[in-house]
Amino acid sequence: MWQAEVRVDLDAIRENVARLRAGTSAELMAVVKADGYGHGMLPAARAALDAGATALGVCTLDEALTLRRGGVTAPVLAWLLAPGLPLHEGVAAGVDLAAASTDQLDELVVAAQRAGRPARVHLKIDTGLARGGATVADWPVLLDAAAKAQADGTVEVVGVWSHFAYADAPGHPTIDRQLAVFVEGVALAERAGLRPRWRHLANSAATLTRPDTHFDLVRPGIAVYGLSPVEGERFGLRPAMSARARVTLTKRVPAGSGVSYGHTYRTERETTLAVVPVGYADGVPRHASNVGPVHLGGKVRTVAGRVCMDQFMLDCGDDPVAPGDVATLFGSGAAGEPTADDWAAAVGTINYEIVTRFGGVRVPRAYD
Ligand code: PLP
Repeated sequence: MWQAEVRVDLDAIRENVARLRAGTSAELMAVVKADGYGHGMLPAARAALDAGATALGVCTLDEALTLRRGGVTAPVLAWLLAPGLPLHEGVAAGVDLAAASTDQLDELVVAAQRAGRPARVHLKIDTGLARGGATVADWPVLLDAAAKAQADGTVEVVGVWSHFAYADAPGHPTIDRQLAVFVEGVALAERAGLRPRWRHLANSAATLTRPDTHFDLVRPGIAVYGLSPVEGERFGLRPAMSARARVTLTKRVPAGSGVSYGHTYRTERETTLAVVPVGYADGVPRHASNVGPVHLGGKVRTVAGRVCMDQFMLDCGDDPVAPGDVATLFGSGAAGEPTADDWAAAVGTINYEIVTRFGGVRVPRAYD
């Protein structure tokens, strides 16, 4: 018996990956960082690989090593690496590592020497996000250093890559601009003698809307989990996560009752309040106070008053709700429940944040 649970439908992940694969001739790297966007990194990774992903993308070295310890042998790329990490462990485990500067490349060379095998490297160019990646000005210097290290046998350049700033707004002019910078960056890499197996640029939005950005590998995250990166579009994806909790208590309260901390909600008439045992410690955004939609007793209701650390209340009027009834915060929407998109809209965030925060903080996850 569960009090609150996150259910993850692994078939939905498999179906989404198969759909994404069907739309491209490129290979697919499923992004499973942040515990698989809250869906569980290892189960999500295995489901994605089952469905034809050939590689996995994560943020940290720890995440990559966790995948290896979990028995994943597919290529894994880790791309956000502070100086001083035990990168030799990653090299020894055959993890692909990103480099965006000659300093980062030097660290990989040292790690390779220590591990006794070449470091598999993806060189990153900043095409316009101004986040990770070498600037266009520094790119030739990085390419030269990488070409020398490859000639020495300390690194093997397996990827050249970048990331979009605005792919979730199809038609945005920065998409074409970034693409042009990337094409030029790849050409320079080739001129430096580097012909990596994978040139990759496309996140979910570009995977779904811009086939001309696919190159050798697409790198979707959110779409793997069935959520759309583009507002107002579904792309036939199937959301994999649902979140629900059982009502712990119901009670009649008089008109004018202030509900939850700060009494930001007041009952208009005598009513039944239901206590739902999930709060911001479980990933329910506190910004959902008085706006978050929840399906209970056949209706979508709105969180009444502030979301607390562990619980929130629903005003159920005269409806016959009872302790033990299941309140669904979000799911696929098929049974009339809100979706992660509805939560994102209500709370003023993106669906990514809803599922990533909800998955697995305190609420146990169950898999279908
Ligand atoms: N590539 C990189 C470098 C990322 O940081 C992310 C996620 O933020 C992705 C790919 C996947 O993006 P999305 O979830 O929008 O498909």
